[in-house]
Amino acid sequence: MRIRKWLLLFLFVVFVEAHSTYPQDTFYSDGTLRRIRVPILMYHYISPLPEDADDVRIDLTVEPDLFREHLQYLHDNSYQTISLYDLNAALLMGTPLPDKPVILTFDDSYSDHYTYVYPLLRDFDFTGTFFVITGLVDAGAPGYLDWTQVQEMAEAGMSMEPHTKSHQSLTERDYDFLVYEMLGSRESLAGHTGQGTHMFSYPAGRYDDATLAVAGQLGIWRAVTTEAGMLHTTDNMLEMPRVRVHGGTNAAGLAYLLKGDWLN
Ligand SMILES: [Zn+2]
Repeated sequence: MRIRKWLLLFLFVVFVEAHSTYPQDTFYSDGTLRRIRVPILMYHYISPLPEDADDVRIDLTVEPDLFREHLQYLHDNSYQTISLYDLNAALLMGTPLPDKPVILTFDDSYSDHYTYVYPLLRDFDFTGTFFVITGLVDAGAPGYLDWTQVQEMAEAGMSMEPHTKSHQSLTERDYDFLVYEMLGSRESLAGHTGQGTHMFSYPAGRYDDATLAVAGQLGIWRAVTTEAGMLHTTDNMLEMPRVRVHGGTNAAGLAYLLKGDWLN
């Protein structure tokens, strides 16, 4: 009787594993230290500029026509979008990447990510990574994604990843606050999309040693910052640099950013 119980439990675990939608093969490292150059572009608003836009909003906004030019430039120059999972697997296991990989990230779950970004990405057969502030989605906050949109985007192959519940800074916080914000947002997303989420973006790119410790304990595989850079290593797991795309950047500006000469 007891053996049957264990057998059933074993079969249950095998079944769950086999039906899990967690991206595979990224748990393990083959022990080789690698360094790979991949631009992780960081976008915020992709929308027309409101008439009352201040300097901050102007800097955070790429208008949809310009964004389409970015995608056209990437397409014409043979860039291929990959996910943070792909990059993680390449760093840990040496799995191959396309010749010109790029990761497109969109922070803060604005509703224009569904209205403009999602259809444009699909036009070009690209994918993106969207960092979602789940408390705002839960609250039905105007101007932000709703759960139906998040689900649809996840099902279409977009990575919907946590960006905390409330977007408050994660520096100088106690353990409970960090777990609530980081695990809470991750579980909300997993619950709504049915997909595992192992990536993370720090609000305003701010974190400290306690934040890193909790991220590690929660099994976050990779976290992105707002530090400028394109080089990623096997062990920079929780401090991955990105390339900020400022408002008003045109295709030539994007080409300049991708070339990376400005970094040194
Ligand atoms: Zn943010």
